[in-house]
Amino acid sequence: MRVEDKVNQADEANAAGAGALFLGIGVCAGVAVGRAFCRRHEDHKIVERDIAVEDVPREIARFESAMIATRSQLREIQKSSDPAVAGIFDAHLMILDDRPFIDRVIFGVENRMKNVEYVLSTVAHEFVQSLSKVQDDYLRERVADVNDVARRILRNLGGVRGAAEKPLAEPAILVADDLPPSEIVLIDKTKVLGIAMDLGSPTCHVAILAGKMGIPAVVGLHNFSAAVASGDEILLDGNKGHAILRPSAELLGQYDRIAASRRSVEISLRELKDQPSDTRDGCRIFLAANIEMPQDVDQALSSGADGVGLFRTEYFFMSRQDLPSEDEQFQAYRDVVSRLTPAPTIIRTLDLGGDKFLPNLDGALNESNPFMGWRAIRFCLAQPDLFKTQLRAILRASAFGNAKIMYPMISNVDEIVRANAILDQAKKELFERGYPFNPHIEVGAMIEVPSAAMIADLIAPHVSFFSLGTNDLIQYTLAIDRGNERVAYLYEPTHPAILRLIKHTADAGHRFGIWTGLCGGVGGDPLMTPLLVGLGLDELSVSPAVLPVVKDAIRSITYSEARDIADAALYSQSAMDVQEMSRELARKVAPEILELVV
Ligand code: PEP
Ligand code: MG
Repeated sequence: MRVEDKVNQADEANAAGAGALFLGIGVCAGVAVGRAFCRRHEDHKIVERDIAVEDVPREIARFESAMIATRSQLREIQKSSDPAVAGIFDAHLMILDDRPFIDRVIFGVENRMKNVEYVLSTVAHEFVQSLSKVQDDYLRERVADVNDVARRILRNLGGVRGAAEKPLAEPAILVADDLPPSEIVLIDKTKVLGIAMDLGSPTCHVAILAGKMGIPAVVGLHNFSAAVASGDEILLDGNKGHAILRPSAELLGQYDRIAASRRSVEISLRELKDQPSDTRDGCRIFLAANIEMPQDVDQALSSGADGVGLFRTEYFFMSRQDLPSEDEQFQAYRDVVSRLTPAPTIIRTLDLGGDKFLPNLDGALNESNPFMGWRAIRFCLAQPDLFKTQLRAILRASAFGNAKIMYPMISNVDEIVRANAILDQAKKELFERGYPFNPHIEVGAMIEVPSAAMIADLIAPHVSFFSLGTNDLIQYTLAIDRGNERVAYLYEPTHPAILRLIKHTADAGHRFGIWTGLCGGVGGDPLMTPLLVGLGLDELSVSPAVLPVVKDAIRSITYSEARDIADAALYSQSAMDVQEMSRELARKVAPEILELVV
């Protein structure tokens, strides 16, 4: 939806007294109505770390940059806030300028030789303690402000970690400013009706997880969480990308009617489960599911997937306190592989870094630009023992079914060559230990860095398949931080540059006789399906929750229609033009899809 349409919609809803409307970005379709359950920052825990003398200037520089970022965010929120509440942020900005507060943090880093996150949270805690004791009401009210500001600085430092999730007593809509992926994996999914988050963008990892769980989710809601208290009634619309606080009875009635028609479309799509994902003129597209945890295989199977096209193994690591051993990993991978076989399971090796960390392996935590840093294959190649343990576990699982290996974030040929050399060592070790495994296990490369797409022809001889990770490919190509809600409007999957990189990769793959799939979030948008098929993709791997509607989209088109739209899109002037073309085609061939899309 265009920004101006959203603004009109907001004005209309507010004028109609329907409830207080907050605009965000819908990342998982569907509507949820329920009570709010607010996750506050008190639920986060800070890691305490010793630092060396030479690290002190760097810690202080990180603190200063985080303060600058915090100040500019607060100013922006203040500008976009209702004048009645904008004053709150004056108090927040004053704390940022409070010299004793700043000096105590700097003094603490220099003298206690601890990481700045830890020192900051200790200083904030001390401030809060002394403010809580004073008699003056005004000063006592500043406690919340200090907490809010400290939380925001911590977030800008990138050092806030999720603690184990508090259980939800009743089904509710989870409301938070931010939720780290490590926290989402621990929530009780049966109790979460929806997720509303202040930060985030269409492909942040929270969006991915919400999509997988199939629960309505809206991110990028700016200051929504500050306006909501636990127990408030909320209507969350993942299709339109907004949240309505205390919705009117009339609005709830309207939504009931829309939900009923959407449910009937969903029921008819379920009947496609055992149908092939063929275009109307018989072109087969392999339609697989993305999974994050071994138990997700149930959902993948019941969605009618042809296999698993992406098993994001790092979530399995993140869901526990210690590192899983080779045997534990083997059991988890074997369970998935043996349940799916003969259908394939593509197991992606660890993609840690970026916004995914482990409590006991936090080497990348202090990077100022973690998505461009020590992440994924770079991290694994630097930790050969950890990497080889995972490879041995996958290899052992390959004796029980159709397992394939996929390396994330490949950016050059050397990384593939080195990863394959470690794989060869892992095979040798298993052979010596007498374990059975598939010596010809297929290996693929994720194409998610523009350099890899450009040299796909050089990478192809080293692998058996490509899978495009568009979540990252878009981030790196368009220079858009995938987790930053302020630039989310620039995150355009239909940008001609992205479409050309996809086509370039698929063409190179075909020239070398290997297939190319796509496992980024774009694959789950049924409006994009004709375009992706027309660009030459052989496989799409999507969240199981959206798999039926993507199958419907494949079955609704002919391959020549797909080619036509792709050819036109490659030379379009703008991403918006391509979206319009895709909507137009859907209106013609599969109007039911428009009922379900975000
Ligand atoms: C991607 O980048 O598109 C992808 C599938 O990987 P992840 O979202 O886990 O980074
Ligand atoms: Mg990726």
